[in-house]
Amino acid sequence: MKFDFYLFDLDGTLLDLGNMGTHADHILVQTLQKLNVDKIPNRTKRRELWSSGGKFQKVLSRWGINESKKFWKFYDKTDFEIRKILLKKKEILLFEDVKIVLELIRNHKANKKLAICSNTADYIVDFFLKYFKINNIFHEIFSMGGANQECAKPSPKGILTILEKFDFDPQNETAIMIGDSIHDVLAAHKAKISSCLIDRQKENETRIYKQWKIQPDYVIQRLQELIDL
Ligand SMILES: [Mg+2]
Repeated sequence: MKFDFYLFDLDGTLLDLGNMGTHADHILVQTLQKLNVDKIPNRTKRRELWSSGGKFQKVLSRWGINESKKFWKFYDKTDFEIRKILLKKKEILLFEDVKIVLELIRNHKANKKLAICSNTADYIVDFFLKYFKINNIFHEIFSMGGANQECAKPSPKGILTILEKFDFDPQNETAIMIGDSIHDVLAAHKAKISSCLIDRQKENETRIYKQWKIQPDYVIQRLQELIDL
């Protein structure tokens, strides 16, 4: 456990929502329908939104959506509605090793700090952290709220905001971002901290990580392995 600061992605990393890509796409389609978009773009085109980084407005405009704020508000609302249904059906869970590992880091004698850096809406993040009783484990939380959508990973903005609050000294301290997607790895790379990809096998996206231009510094299959890094 050599790092001083541990930054975690939430969805797909701590929270098990099944197939994340399918989950996000399902919400996207419902949101586009609610916004009366004439022609719903196909799956390949829809993927462009997730890789657009801060340029999501360009993609939305192509789909005939000019008010991105309204779009994200609808998206988050739909996301929350779907998650609450999934939760009732016990289809959203914490991965089983999450609590143990987070507590081990939190209780470490070297006073390590933990944070969440998530692309999900702030009220949804808060709801799930509280629901699973892990909210008190984290010293800082960076999530999406109001007008900061352009700070979503792969932008390093969230990571940098957290590290600034921690008074991070890159000369003498180390930080790691742990996540399940390319966006987490890219954001960490841009923020010049270590990245750790959690590849829990069943998730499609992470299986293709070997083709990524920017490689994660570490790849683990269970969160428990983080303790040995
Ligand atoms: Mg994720």
